[in-house]
Amino acid sequence: MIDKVLIPDDNTNRFTYDYMRAMPGRINWHLNDLCNFKCEYCFFPYFTKENPDVGRLSPTQIVEAFNRTGRQWHIYMAGGEPMLYPNFIELIGLLKPYHPVYISTNLSNKYTRAFAEQITPENIISINASLHIGHHTESSLEKFIDNYKLYRSKGFHVIVTYVTHPPLFSKMDADFEFLKNRGIEHLHALTFQGSFEGKQYPAAYTHEQKKMLNKYLIDKTEMFVSMDRTNFQGKLCRAGKDYFFMDIKGNMFRCGTLEGKESYGNMFDGTFQPKQDIHACPVSRCNDSCHGITSLINMPPVPELDSDIKHSIMNGYHKVKSIFTGDTSLVE
Ligand code: SF4
Ligand code: SF4
Repeated sequence: MIDKVLIPDDNTNRFTYDYMRAMPGRINWHLNDLCNFKCEYCFFPYFTKENPDVGRLSPTQIVEAFNRTGRQWHIYMAGGEPMLYPNFIELIGLLKPYHPVYISTNLSNKYTRAFAEQITPENIISINASLHIGHHTESSLEKFIDNYKLYRSKGFHVIVTYVTHPPLFSKMDADFEFLKNRGIEHLHALTFQGSFEGKQYPAAYTHEQKKMLNKYLIDKTEMFVSMDRTNFQGKLCRAGKDYFFMDIKGNMFRCGTLEGKESYGNMFDGTFQPKQDIHACPVSRCNDSCHGITSLINMPPVPELDSDIKHSIMNGYHKVKSIFTGDTSLVE
């Protein structure tokens, strides 16, 4: 059994990468699939029905499963839309005294306001409110802003994440200005990753788009993602010891990138077994952008925009050279 905990209620921005990096044990839980939005850039297929594995355990059984590990976890919850998880409010009420949580939500679903009314902000590390601005009407955006204000008035740390789908670049400055004027305090851009109009992002971002992203990123570390430089193969990474990805069934993996590849048992059936030591990243691309990157030890220096042009020239040179020499070791 583990003791209850209370994280200090300081005024730090709880969604900085430094804050995440300092957490001793983290789990990124893919809680559910169901969502009330249908964003075309969603990582997951759209579901009109919830995944049948969702909600098999009661909130009490879930808390017991985490407590059985004998460790305190900081649990990041994402879906789908986590607030649509069965008995979500009860689950959070029971879980957070032992394991602080942070929740990624669209802040625009039928439980949004009930959550803020029934749950107190202690041990809610942050509410990561994703703003899918292309999917909002004028009135639903007003509701989003009202919901943001409700959460702030209740004392929650809220960070609004503006998802940078490529068609939005031309209006991003105006949107940020509008949202700041409407009282959104912590607002940042999240680098869109995926395909759009036959191009693969982030590789396809232009230098101008990267400059725009750089202006609004919450943490310079995310430059690795926006500049498509996420090869950390061979570098020591705490994922597998202090950070894990957990799927809907409770299966534990080293990280999101290694889901289905490097397994560590199951949280719910009691077979979860973390590694005792820190080991090197085995893959040439880290898709687990913020949690994965913050798990690295001795990170390489954050890439600078000015070095980006030089980098793409050199990469082109290595690509051409590899055709003749067969040596692809320097090609990204
Ligand atoms: S709100 Fe999030 S989970 Fe829902 S469809 Fe959009 S990207 Fe996917
Ligand atoms: S660097 Fe990324 S892909 Fe590699 S082990 Fe760490 S989290 Fe996983």
